[in-house]
Amino acid sequence: MAAWGNVVIQVPSELFALAESSHFEGEWPVDVIEAGPDSYRFDKPVAWSIDLTNTGDALLATGSVRGVATTSCARCLDPVVIELDGEIEGYFVIGDGEAPADMDDDEFDHLPEDGKIDAVPLIEAALLMDMPLLPLCSEDCAGLCSTCGANLNEGPCECDADDMDPLHPFAALKGLTFE
Ligand SMILES: [Zn+2]
Ligand SMILES: [Zn+2]
Repeated sequence: MAAWGNVVIQVPSELFALAESSHFEGEWPVDVIEAGPDSYRFDKPVAWSIDLTNTGDALLATGSVRGVATTSCARCLDPVVIELDGEIEGYFVIGDGEAPADMDDDEFDHLPEDGKIDAVPLIEAALLMDMPLLPLCSEDCAGLCSTCGANLNEGPCECDADDMDPLHPFAALKGLTFE
């Protein structure tokens, strides 16, 4: 996990009363987030806001994070600017309390005894959730020619499949049908 800046929320003592709620917001200076095969580079910090609400057994964190990142088109590799608007969710069990039975282990944390919540994992998870599985410069991006590597968005390349050099390694694939 990237650690480009800390975001620590100090839970105020007033929040340890049922139904109390507090609002927090700030910026997270992040440089790069890796999402599977894709790298997202951020030129500016992302803006986050989180509301913490005391549900009795836990502090429920809800909020949002917004930022702009640049990644590469999955087809043509050109830079693509993606606006991210993620939804923050977290659940911090207070003291010896228990999480709801229907919650998986990875869906909640225990509130640290010092009352300091590290919000970076929540913010990063929210950004990751909003990142496209396949970032594209445009829905109809033509991609790169698999033979010569030319960017087909800039026009057709020289290697028309019909007059492919018979000695070319891909020529053997011609005429095969894939089901
Ligand atoms: Zn593209
Ligand atoms: Zn080509």
